[in-house]
Amino acid sequence: MSARIIDGKAIAAELRIKVAGEVKRLTTQHGVTPGLAVVLAGNNPASESYVGSKAKATKEAGINSFDHRLPDSVGQAELMALVKKLNADPAVHGILVQLPLPKQIDAQQVLDAIDPAKDVDGFHPVNAGRLASGLPALVPCTPLGCIMLAKAVHPSLAGMEAVVIGRSNIVGKPVTQLLLAENATVTVTHSKTRDLPAVCRRADLLVAAIGRPEMVRAGWIKPGATVIDVGINRVPGENGKSKLVGDVAFAECAEVAGAITPVPGGVGPMTIACLMVNTVRATCAISGLPAPAV
Ligand code: NAD
Repeated sequence: MSARIIDGKAIAAELRIKVAGEVKRLTTQHGVTPGLAVVLAGNNPASESYVGSKAKATKEAGINSFDHRLPDSVGQAELMALVKKLNADPAVHGILVQLPLPKQIDAQQVLDAIDPAKDVDGFHPVNAGRLASGLPALVPCTPLGCIMLAKAVHPSLAGMEAVVIGRSNIVGKPVTQLLLAENATVTVTHSKTRDLPAVCRRADLLVAAIGRPEMVRAGWIKPGATVIDVGINRVPGENGKSKLVGDVAFAECAEVAGAITPVPGGVGPMTIACLMVNTVRATCAISGLPAPAV
């Protein structure tokens, strides 16, 4: 293995310490304690696990955590009323509605109802539009984490040839916008892209957000490239247990790449740390304070 392993766990831990410092400063100097409300509807086990990790990280950072658990049978009106209440609550600076929502719910309508100033997931069309327009915005946590990991290797991404695999609203599109804002030259690829391996081989920086286990192979990687693997895929492991793998065939790609994120321990931990960052950024903006140092 020749590539540098980008340690997302360590980078996220450092970031969370910085966030905790900013939270302390806001509380002691300005009397404002950031507050994050997390709404979980239903009992999807993966969502419960994410929400549990988020609540833990929130408390560790000194951020007030407000948990709202709703039954799987929750109606649209009840969910909309909760979002409205949280929008109006001055103790709440960030609102996160955990996806997926129960099937009877129109998720877009719920996300659209969140005050864009409190939209710490960055999924509101106003924030997506502001990001695409190069205006200050709350940006989705996972893409923000990807950029931070890329910048841990290359402090400037200007002029780099970046290729993004995936064009989802959650990862592919916002990471593309963030790379453009960093002055990278960006190619966005997707399921209809012709000769994907050849396009990927052009990349100095490859971001894989596909949701297909180990699809990216060693032959797709330009020697020395930086590879950011967003994928989280559960596949059968040894002894009948399952294991997590990314969208990149890690071991073989690490032989060719210059730097690569592992799964787990790469992008995943950054997502939660960036949620804390967004909560502090939202708190400052809402309170009319200068942007924080994170
Ligand atoms: P998605 O299903 O919404 O989008 C997948 C994208 O991949 C689509 O744009 C599609 O065009 C593209 N794609 C699918 N098959 C392809 C193929 N054969 N060739 C080229 N492109 C193809 O998924 P998403 O929400 O963007 O998530 C992508 C992955 O990232 C998933 O594994 C997900 O679990 C993971 N994820 C991780 C985090 C994290 O915190 N680390 C956060 C969000 C998503």
